[in-house]
Amino acid sequence: MAGKHKIAFKTLGCRLNQYETDALVSEFRKKGYEVVPFHEEAEMYIINTCTVTNQSDHKSRNMISQAIRRREGATVIVTGCMANHYKEKLEQQAGVSYVVENDRKSSLVSLAEAHFHGETVSPALFPADKFHFPLTDHAFHTRSLVKIQDGCDNFCSYCIIPRVRGRAVSRPAGEILDNIRRVTDAGFREVVLTGVNITRYRDGQTDFEDLVEQIVALPGDFRLRISSIEPEGFGEKLFDLFAHPKLTPHLHLCLQSGSDTVLRRMRRKYTVAGFMKMVDSIRSRYPDFNFTTDIITGFPGETDEEFAASVRVAREARFSHIHTFKFSVRDGTAAARMEGQIPEKVKTARSRIIREVSLQNRLDYFRSMLGRTQEVLFEKRGRAMSMGYGEHYLPVATEDKVRPNTMARVLLTGIDDTGKEPFLRGRLA
Ligand code: SF4
Repeated sequence: MAGKHKIAFKTLGCRLNQYETDALVSEFRKKGYEVVPFHEEAEMYIINTCTVTNQSDHKSRNMISQAIRRREGATVIVTGCMANHYKEKLEQQAGVSYVVENDRKSSLVSLAEAHFHGETVSPALFPADKFHFPLTDHAFHTRSLVKIQDGCDNFCSYCIIPRVRGRAVSRPAGEILDNIRRVTDAGFREVVLTGVNITRYRDGQTDFEDLVEQIVALPGDFRLRISSIEPEGFGEKLFDLFAHPKLTPHLHLCLQSGSDTVLRRMRRKYTVAGFMKMVDSIRSRYPDFNFTTDIITGFPGETDEEFAASVRVAREARFSHIHTFKFSVRDGTAAARMEGQIPEKVKTARSRIIREVSLQNRLDYFRSMLGRTQEVLFEKRGRAMSMGYGEHYLPVATEDKVRPNTMARVLLTGIDDTGKEPFLRGRLA
């Protein structure tokens, strides 16, 4: 449908950025804009950037340049964490029309409307609001991401996020519950809680565990998934809540290092023993619970022994997937000034080792699930297969023809590791 203006988006980084783009796309469509793929010609390009590592900076700059080159005279808006990190520099970059910081991202539709009405506008004219994003419709995802929190007060020594996303703030619980009612009424079958450090959630007397308890108590045929979390701010209550059929048995619990001496230099707020105690407590109740994690390799001063500790814990915790990050110097962080910076080739070699452990763990976990069933939320249907994720966050494919956004029980019959990422095969149970 030809809309009043053609607009294109590019999103980099975390689920929080994905959520914010989804919400904006839904609103632009409601206002009659035609949302076209980023590689196509458009009158306006919005790049929702990430700055968590040098690599994400590089990718973000690359997308900005592509947008500037794609159509002469197009309006190019840079938002996201890079907009906060390099605001002045981006404002001076030829071809960049507006630089919109994270806390004004929710007003992008109003800014675009004013712009296309020929008004002279500046992002600073619009209210700073981290939460009032429009409701997402089935824009880009089958699952509905719901933002509950923003910012962080932890100041881990390597992390730039507190600087670009600000201090921790929580969205009112009532708004979150209302948001979830509306997206499940709109047909979403899975809700994913997202934020920067969500276990630090607090709205008056309501903390993170209370909020999860209130959400799973909501009526409706949907399930709740918790996205990436820090190993702090929750305990027995959340462990018990995983018994609830709505709460999916998977946690992406960020370890970062398996060495206590490295964790101290990272200013992380737990020990390896404390982390493993959490993992073991949950596993003692739900033996097939799925844990995934993040590990940084090559943190300043990381010795062979300290790295060996990360490999040991990665095996011991049986993470079914490990996002592996090479340490990246971020100006403005304490770790950037630390001695003992590790050579790039050592970081690369260590990352390869962690990825090998991750793959082995994954195949072992898949094997342990064969012959079992999964309630799969189907997201894609190709010529030969329908694909989706089970409640344990297992990627499952079946030759049965299943429409996207359908939930169906699948008997797991095999493992396909012929491609880049292995997945499970099954048939409708
Ligand atoms: S917990 Fe640490 S790593 Fe995570 S966002 Fe906060 S400062 Fe960054």
